[in-house]
Amino acid sequence: CGIVGYIGPRQALPLVLEGLRRLEYRGYDSAGVAVLDDDGALHVSKKAGVLANLEHEIDGGTVALAGRTGIGHTRWATHGGPTDRNAHPHTDTAGRTAVIHNGIIENFPVLRRELEDAGIEMSSDTDTEVVAHLLGRAYASGTTAGDLPASMAAVARRLQGAFTLVATHADEPGLLVAARRNSPLVIGIGDGEMFLASDVAAFISHTKQAVELGQDQLVVVHADGYEVTSFSGGEPDFRPFTVDWDL
Ligand code: GLU
Repeated sequence: CGIVGYIGPRQALPLVLEGLRRLEYRGYDSAGVAVLDDDGALHVSKKAGVLANLEHEIDGGTVALAGRTGIGHTRWATHGGPTDRNAHPHTDTAGRTAVIHNGIIENFPVLRRELEDAGIEMSSDTDTEVVAHLLGRAYASGTTAGDLPASMAAVARRLQGAFTLVATHADEPGLLVAARRNSPLVIGIGDGEMFLASDVAAFISHTKQAVELGQDQLVVVHADGYEVTSFSGGEPDFRPFTVDWDL
């Protein structure tokens, strides 16, 4: 439902939570965050219910969510009830990659069966979780090994339906990768920092410089830049614009 990502010199968690709060008007049933710390460890916290439940969990939690790369999600459940374990982000079995998703992966039953046949145990009832496992596997071995953008492109090509996806990987602390089809994704370009979101409201208190991504586009964002490509073989398609309204 709501998607936020941050990469830059500041602590990601407060910025991601602020972005999620700005997107609250869209409605949601659960919320979660993943933060990659400076030592390359990925920490995930997620909770059913209102954002305050997640904030309470984080404040009272034993896991420190420090780090300069982070993603956050507010969920509107379509596949699997609104529970803690179905909240996003979803991770692969190794806990190395975390994925948030808006939309519906129509062909997830086929993908899920393929993963289960390969011995992977699902830890949620969502359509989204298959993406985390497919991405982790594409990054771990085969023609896209060690290349997160190429791995995401390969996974996105296999998906049917509607998706805005944002992923972070513990082995790639310097970047976030995102892809979209039939669901919105905008980049916010700050001064030495970048945002990703489903709606500019998530970041306009920090930057008004935005980029809207076209259909079937993939973007890699670093703290100081971004690259857009098409994952389905077309030309890069994106539109830079300046947001002309305030919160
Ligand atoms: N289909 C996904 C789920 O149910 C994402 C829902 C959303 O857009 O929030 O978990």
